[in-house]
Amino acid sequence: MSKLVAPHGGKGLTCCLLHGAALEAEVEKAAKLKKVKISPRENGDLIMMGIGGFSPITNFMNRADWKNVVEKMQLTDGTFWPVPVTLSVDKADADAITTGDQIALVNTDGVTMATMTVTEKYQMTEADKKFECEKVFMGKGDDSINGKFWQVAMEDHPGVKMVMAQKEYNLAGPVKVLSEGDFREKFPGVYMTPAEARAKFDEKGWSTVAALQLRNPMHRSHEYLAKIAVEVCDGVFIHSLVGNLKKGDIPAEVRVKCIDVLIDKYFNKENVIQGGYPLDMRYAGPREGLLHATFRQNYGVNRMIIGRDHAGVGDFYGMFEAQEIFETIPKPAGAGKALLCEPLKIDWTFYCHKCDGMASLRTCNHAKEDRVILSGTKLRKALSEGAEVVDHFGREEVLVILRAYYQGLTEKVEIKMQGAASGADMKKK
Ligand SMILES: [Zn+2]
Repeated sequence: MSKLVAPHGGKGLTCCLLHGAALEAEVEKAAKLKKVKISPRENGDLIMMGIGGFSPITNFMNRADWKNVVEKMQLTDGTFWPVPVTLSVDKADADAITTGDQIALVNTDGVTMATMTVTEKYQMTEADKKFECEKVFMGKGDDSINGKFWQVAMEDHPGVKMVMAQKEYNLAGPVKVLSEGDFREKFPGVYMTPAEARAKFDEKGWSTVAALQLRNPMHRSHEYLAKIAVEVCDGVFIHSLVGNLKKGDIPAEVRVKCIDVLIDKYFNKENVIQGGYPLDMRYAGPREGLLHATFRQNYGVNRMIIGRDHAGVGDFYGMFEAQEIFETIPKPAGAGKALLCEPLKIDWTFYCHKCDGMASLRTCNHAKEDRVILSGTKLRKALSEGAEVVDHFGREEVLVILRAYYQGLTEKVEIKMQGAASGADMKKK
C-alpha cells in the first residue's frame, strides 16, 4: 500500500496516453483527420496530460475554465489549478473546424501527438490575452515594476510574449495522446512518468518526498536546498525540466550529467532520486511555482522546495513571492480539490566563509563580504566568458562538465545579469 500523497483532483492519475491496439487504431484514425499545428508549450502540456502529470486535466480548457483559472486559480468544478492549459489556432483553422469535429494535433517536428474532439472554440481578443497576462504573469509587482508592467513586459517577459503571440482562437476538448515524444530515449532512467516515479518512491517505502525544481545546473546552493529537504523528509526528488528553455540556457543533457556527478559524489544515494519532466518553461513566476507543486503532487511529492526567486523572470517578482502565493491560494472543499503538496520554504542560501559552510539568512549573521552568493546566472556568465569561478560557487566536478560544454559552443552567448541573480538586493523576507 502506497504511503504517498494522492494525485491532485481526487480521480487518481488520469492518463490519456494510449497504448497497444488502442494506440494503433487511433494513429490510423488520426492520419485521416484535419491537422492542426501546435506550439512547443502545447506539446509539453499534451505529454503531461498523457502521462497523468496534469491530473485531473485531460483536455484543453474551454472558455469558462480558462477564465476561472486565470481569475481564481480554480477549474469551474472548484478544483485548484494555477495556470491556463489552452490550445490556440488561427482564424483560418478556427473557421474550418466545427464543434464536434475530431482533429489531429501535430507538433513542430511534424509528429502527430494527439487527437482531440473539439467541444468549444472561442475567440481570444487582445483584451483577453492581456487579462491573462496581468493575472498570471504580473505577480504582485514590486517597486521596480509597479505600474510599468506593460512598458517592459513585451520586451523582457518571455511568458507574456508567448501568450500575446498566441493565435486568435482557442480550441477546447478532451485529448487522446499518441506519443511521449523522444524524452524516454534522450533521457533514459531520468525521464519518468508520475506512475514510474511513484513506484520508485514506494520501493523505498517513502511517504514524505520533497521535490527540487531545476532548470539551471545544480550548484552548491541547490545541493544545500536538497540536503535540507533530505534532513526533514524521507527522500528528495531532484526533478529537472527537460523541455525547452530560452536561448543561452544550458541544455538538459548537460544539466542531467551535473546532477549525476553530484549524486554520485556528494549525496547518500539511498535518499535521492533524479527525474526529468517534459515541460517547457512558462515563465509564470509565482504561478509557475504553484504549477510545479501541483504536478509534483501527481508524481507523489508532498513538499515542494521553494527558495528565493523560484521560477523568477528577470526582476519581475519579489524574491519570496513564490513562497507567499501559497498563503493566498483557494483551498476548495471536496475530495482532491485542494492542493496537497505544500511548500518547503527556504531563505537565501550561500556559502559563508565565517560559518565555514553553507548557510542561510536564518542561520548566518555575518557580513555580506563573508558570503559567496551563488546563482545559476552568475555562474553561466563566468563560464561563458571563460572567467575563473570563485571558490565554493560550484563543485569542481560540475564545473569541469560546464567548462567543457562552453568550450564546445560555436556561438557565443551573452548572459544578461539581473538584480535577482547578482544578489544585489539580498534582504530578509
Ligand atoms: Zn556566516
